Amino acid sequence: MAAQEKTFYLETFGCQMNAHDSEKVVGTLISQGYRQVPTVEEAGLVLYNTCSIRDKAEQKVFHRLADYKKLHAAGKRLGVLGCVAQQEGEKIFERAPHVSLVCGSASYRNLPQMLMQLEASTCNATREIPRPAGESAGLWDDPTREWAHNPRLATRDSQLVRITGLDDRETDKCFETEFTARTNPHRGYITIIEGCDKFCSYCVVPFTRGKERSRTSDSVLAEARHMADLGYTEIQLLGQNVNSYRDPAGKRSFAELLAAVGEVAGIRRVRFTTSHPRDFGRDIVKAIDAHPTLCDHVHLPVQSGSSRILHAMQRLYDRDQYLERISWMKSARREISITSDIIVGFPGETEGDFEQTLSLLEEVGYDGIFAFKYSPRPNTPSLKLDDTIPDAEKSRRLAVLLEKQRTIQQTRNRKQLGLTLEVMVEGKNESRKQWIGRTSQNKTLNFTAPAQRDVEVGSYVPVRITTAFPNSLVGELWVNA
Ligand code: SAM
Ligand code: SF4
Repeated sequence: MAAQEKTFYLETFGCQMNAHDSEKVVGTLISQGYRQVPTVEEAGLVLYNTCSIRDKAEQKVFHRLADYKKLHAAGKRLGVLGCVAQQEGEKIFERAPHVSLVCGSASYRNLPQMLMQLEASTCNATREIPRPAGESAGLWDDPTREWAHNPRLATRDSQLVRITGLDDRETDKCFETEFTARTNPHRGYITIIEGCDKFCSYCVVPFTRGKERSRTSDSVLAEARHMADLGYTEIQLLGQNVNSYRDPAGKRSFAELLAAVGEVAGIRRVRFTTSHPRDFGRDIVKAIDAHPTLCDHVHLPVQSGSSRILHAMQRLYDRDQYLERISWMKSARREISITSDIIVGFPGETEGDFEQTLSLLEEVGYDGIFAFKYSPRPNTPSLKLDDTIPDAEKSRRLAVLLEKQRTIQQTRNRKQLGLTLEVMVEGKNESRKQWIGRTSQNKTLNFTAPAQRDVEVGSYVPVRITTAFPNSLVGELWVNA
């Protein structure tokens, strides 16, 4: 019966790890008999998979929860998943009493049990609401009416239900599930390592995602082979620090696992993100050199160009050690595209420190950066340092940094003019009549093709580059005839 059907809506905030966690959460819910719906209005259960990496991300979640207070009144259940859930824990129930489920990512393994609890509580909490005086029986049965005689909607007077999954941060187990609802039919993600033990002084991740734990390389490879059988051609290995991977069975190092995934029949591209400089070994560059299926792109966040600030950030490397890793990549046989994350305005960052970050951009020649203003986060050691740099100054440094990087990218992209590169076709921009492609270096390369040529999304085609912008390239399908 439609009124009893279990439906859910899920919205995801934050990083690629969260997006992939959501694919697994969706798969788990579907395996439990739920149907995903595209709008909050159609859903019985509304879930937010949240991010708390910076204050802005966290505020977004609380605004969304406040917006949806009325949903509880309409009988819907609300759940908060992910980093805000873990960080704020039961305090969420105080700030948002209409929330029924609070679950951190380290507890996703237990979601099926939590869903059953939620359903049982919904049934127990439900009580018959008498037909309002003057309403006809027909209208009373209309499930679109808020007050309808409908068990799913009749919980408005019930006790608040509170289910939590917050205690698993010390677990050694990963969230492995056969039920992953992948959203892209060509590129698939595999989390190989969860959590983080690095404790950078500004970062909430070790507190929200728990301790570092890896899957066995055999299980990762089995998933990669399964995905290849399903037709996936690109695999992205994920982890907060993907290269800190340690096979619990001791069979393969990270570089060996990369190579093994790259050898899976049918897989044409392997990517991995995010790499931590401290654990970035030469063997990774050698693996890229030896296996053309490993993409020539490494995301290696530096955070600052000043060794003094890197020390205060507890990043476990200094500028010279970081640059040593860059030099390994620059001596690779293929040109490896390098991207990074940078924080400006960390407590105590002087103009001189900031200048060193600017000079590092030049020295490395990044193909892209994600840059952020420092945001003080709960529980983190840097909270004890005075956040003395005014927001306006952080904004100025951010703007200067981004402008410099824009110029660097423009110059670097121009060097690719005239090259013919293979792209994976991701889609089409109908209004511009351009296909959207991605190069192995992870650059967007939009291209045109003769009208009579069939181009398929998910296929790999050669494209000659004719125009370079700072954030993308433009070209023409290479027709060799
Ligand atoms: N594990 C990765 C590493 O160590 O490079 C980073 C993962 S973190 C989810 C993504 C990025 O968020 C970081 O690289 C950092 O630049 C940024 N970030 C983390 N905490 C921050 C904070 N408190 N304020 C501003 N940016 C922050
Ligand atoms: Fe956060 Fe540092 Fe761990 Fe990256 S390595 S997730 S920045 S604590």
